[in-house]
Amino acid sequence: MTENPFFAASPLVYELPPYAEIREEHYLPAYERGMAEQLAEIAAITDDRALPTFENTLVALERSGGLLRRVDAVFRNQSSSDTTDLLDEVEAKVSPLLAAHHDAIHLDQRLFARIEGLYGDRAALGLDPESLRLLERRYTAFVRSGARLGAAEQARLRELNAELAALGTTFQQNVNAATRSAALVVDTAEELAGLSEGAIAAAAENARVLGHEGRYVLSLKSPSNQPELAQLADRSVRERLLAASLARAGEDNGPLAIRMTELRAERAVLLGFPSHAAYVVADETAGTVEAVSGLLARLVEPAVANARREAAELLKVAAADGIEELAAHDWAYYSEKVRQSSYQVDAAALRPYFELERVLRDGVFFAAKLAYGLEFTERPDLTAHHPDARVFEVFEEDGTALGLFIGDFHARASKRGGAWMDELVGQSGLTGRRPVVLNNLNVPRPAPGEPALLSWDEVRTLFHEFGHALHGLFSDVRYPLFAGTAVPRDFVEFPSQVNEMWMVRPEVLANYARHHATGEPLPVELVERMTAAEGFGEGFRTVEYLAATLLDWAWHTLPQGHRVEDAEEFEARALAEAGIAVPAIPPRYRTSYFQHIFSSGYSAGYYAYIWSEVLDADTVRWFETNGQPVRDSGELFRRELLARGFGRDPLESFRAVVGRAPETAPLLERRGLG
Ligand SMILES: [Zn+2]
Repeated sequence: MTENPFFAASPLVYELPPYAEIREEHYLPAYERGMAEQLAEIAAITDDRALPTFENTLVALERSGGLLRRVDAVFRNQSSSDTTDLLDEVEAKVSPLLAAHHDAIHLDQRLFARIEGLYGDRAALGLDPESLRLLERRYTAFVRSGARLGAAEQARLRELNAELAALGTTFQQNVNAATRSAALVVDTAEELAGLSEGAIAAAAENARVLGHEGRYVLSLKSPSNQPELAQLADRSVRERLLAASLARAGEDNGPLAIRMTELRAERAVLLGFPSHAAYVVADETAGTVEAVSGLLARLVEPAVANARREAAELLKVAAADGIEELAAHDWAYYSEKVRQSSYQVDAAALRPYFELERVLRDGVFFAAKLAYGLEFTERPDLTAHHPDARVFEVFEEDGTALGLFIGDFHARASKRGGAWMDELVGQSGLTGRRPVVLNNLNVPRPAPGEPALLSWDEVRTLFHEFGHALHGLFSDVRYPLFAGTAVPRDFVEFPSQVNEMWMVRPEVLANYARHHATGEPLPVELVERMTAAEGFGEGFRTVEYLAATLLDWAWHTLPQGHRVEDAEEFEARALAEAGIAVPAIPPRYRTSYFQHIFSSGYSAGYYAYIWSEVLDADTVRWFETNGQPVRDSGELFRRELLARGFGRDPLESFRAVVGRAPETAPLLERRGLG
């Protein structure tokens, strides 16, 4: 057997993971050895007879865990981007082990004693600002993980963390299974009227594969939105499709959600907070439950009013089809009709102007050159995690190499839905590493020989995810803990949202939006109509999002000991009490398939998107009105904010760019909530 490639640092440029050598059987042994190695490294710190110093304790801790970090970075992306049954098994095995490993470090009394001692002396240590911050952040992380609790409480904490890790994995697997099994089956092609011929043929093929020969099957898409709802002309088919989507995993995951929120409330109290939400936001930029509740409450009423106005518009069109009351399964369908009739926007007519390669090079990369002076060179000689994935080397204006960017743009059965950024190698001055970052999207693969044409939303996603990539690439910190996107959850979406502005910036749009066959530029009036049509859907989008946010909030502000009997009932009451219960607009995620908050680390954190958007809208306005050349604005934004990562208080970084504290007016204006 050949040596496990994770056991040593990668010999490749930028320490790009040696993908050509990695086999799926390497992950588990690498995880096991990685955890053992880090515990040995920590034992070496605590066994050191010399007096604790910043160097022999904090810096040594930063240097520890190299193998674990290498395998975890590769595995996290692989298990999302190109999973297999074996990787799913590894994930189920590893997640409780990682939770226990986290506890083993953070509840290590000898290690905490050294950190606590140094923290007490911090003013006298003569540390530079980033080093002082490292000490403070580590101390806080230990306290928040229970380092100051007594032995009995710590034992209970370990139990809670272990059970929560296992339940989170089960929740996720239930959602995956329910999404696969809850397909809609119809008998005739007529029932699918409205879908394209290609989509109907695909539904027939899907039926054949799933053992329904001669019928048609629409499989559920994994995010909550089912795109066929915008096209299916048969109302009862729409109703059945939406019902299948909304009922996903309800029976299995309702009780899990109840159990998980009870355990989280108990853990919060153990750690000195009245609720899980209070515990979470104490370490975010928001700070308090009241700050978050205040912003959400301010948005609810105007958003609901907008949605009701939109509903009235939709009903006018739906009335022609004999519909008297607009239902949830009508919304997307009649929105598309209104978009076409009132705004003369046909989403399909835009696609030929958005060819993937062109959007990437002449749009996304071009904007990065305009604002930051970057240059990109494709490196086909370097192997990434999948044959679809492409590697680019990124250079500064003066030719200095900055890092690697990997783009994996196409959908496949082994990839989860959505789009995301991952970091394979984090930048650090301490370790001398430069960043290797990665974007995953789910653009359908075109037929052989055809160009990949993007939708308006897919173009936006490409710019958005690249914003995260820039945050990783521009990182210029000393300690790995602070690199790039390692900022609070309610801040991390801000730089990526800001990067979306380039999509419609005239000089960028003119450079990339050209007809793939004729080279003709996208007509300006088409863009204007599309932007106007987007404004029309703002009421729906905001309500759908706020409903999910307020649902997350309701579950996680529950006090310890509050007994929820039925998850669905709780959900209905929570939405009604928050004033966000618009019958024709279900929350973007219902409890039973709300993976963000039950299986992927966004519990009491779904508010983060709109919280970040306050900063985003304010910064976009700053870019547009500050009177500086765009290259100068870009440089300032990069140097003072993107490069800083979490190496200083993120709101301080914001002020260093914009010159004052954030304001909400630009967001309210953008979302039509003023
Ligand atoms: Zn994002």
